[in-house]
Amino acid sequence: METKKKDIRALTKEQLRDFFVKEGDKAFRGNQVYEWLWQKSAHSFEDMTNISLETRQMLKDNFVINHIKVDQMQRSSDGTIKNAVRLHDDLIVESVLIPTATRTTACVSSQVGCSLDCKFCATARLKRMRNLNPDEIYDQVVAIHNESRLYHNRPLSNIVFMGMGEPLMNYNNVLKAIDKITSPEGLGMSPKRIVVSTSGVPKMIKKMADDEVKFKLAVSLHSAIDEVRTSIMPFNATFPLKDLREALEYWYSKTKNRITYEYVVWEGINDKRKDVDALVEFCKFAPSKVNLIEYNPIDDGEFQQANPKALDMYVNVLEANNITVTVRRSRGKDIDAACGQLANKG
Ligand code: SAH
Repeated sequence: METKKKDIRALTKEQLRDFFVKEGDKAFRGNQVYEWLWQKSAHSFEDMTNISLETRQMLKDNFVINHIKVDQMQRSSDGTIKNAVRLHDDLIVESVLIPTATRTTACVSSQVGCSLDCKFCATARLKRMRNLNPDEIYDQVVAIHNESRLYHNRPLSNIVFMGMGEPLMNYNNVLKAIDKITSPEGLGMSPKRIVVSTSGVPKMIKKMADDEVKFKLAVSLHSAIDEVRTSIMPFNATFPLKDLREALEYWYSKTKNRITYEYVVWEGINDKRKDVDALVEFCKFAPSKVNLIEYNPIDDGEFQQANPKALDMYVNVLEANNITVTVRRSRGKDIDAACGQLANKG
């Protein structure tokens, strides 16, 4: 029986160097292979043209490269691209390229499915199957980076962890992926151009602060009233707003970074004055920005985008309280690529 070969990208550079030394080769060979694996994003050992055939064969005998495969690419009329990405075990996740006049943003997944049960999100209907490995997250970014150059003639400029899954429930792997994305040995992107979006896991937000991460944090709030938030984001019963706020206060005290909230206003759910007032109250402890995002319907009559008057009220009240507010239009709706629509349709 063939023993299961190891994923070579699970090895650190040091481990790869040690491996070559044990094989009687030079540690430097480890650097070369490492460069192929990350900076050059090689799909196979055959690609490694400055490595001898014999060494490539030895690597093949010992390891696999579990590179993702873009199974299907859909392009929206607004330039948005959605990739259905096949993993080595045939599970599928999705990632999205969002172009604007000045940016190209990659929206990447961190888990296969999701264990949270947000009532308005299509991904919540999929069972959480497993966490993505760092290389699977990295590969999604590389695929979009290449598509950005090919279809939009420019490199990727930003990354948001707003695809499938809850990034803070796969924290270690997300951190390792970001490490590769930002390292000169990987893509060399600035961490300031990366946003990790969380539904709010207090313990992990504190951990991020302690780890002094350099990327940005966004919190999917949607309501600052416990009762309302629990009804649409049931895990709020376990991590209530008081705990979330305490963690965010800790985050702010350590990082001095403004906090961004993602917020959808739904008719009859959070479209009243008391909802805005609660939001203002919640935001008070630190400089804040609220992104009012458009609701993307997920074949569920229960949720409907609030009318423009309610949105105007939110904007006016927030601005009057010195809270930065933006109203964000959805992108890629025609191909189910917008926020909360990722669910492997078909
Ligand atoms: N689990 C993370 C990241 C994935 S969701 C988080 O909760 O932040 C990415 C963003 O899309 C979140 O702000 C989420 O609240 C929002 N979202 C989910 N479903 C949506 C929908 N149907 N319409 C608009 N936004 C949605």
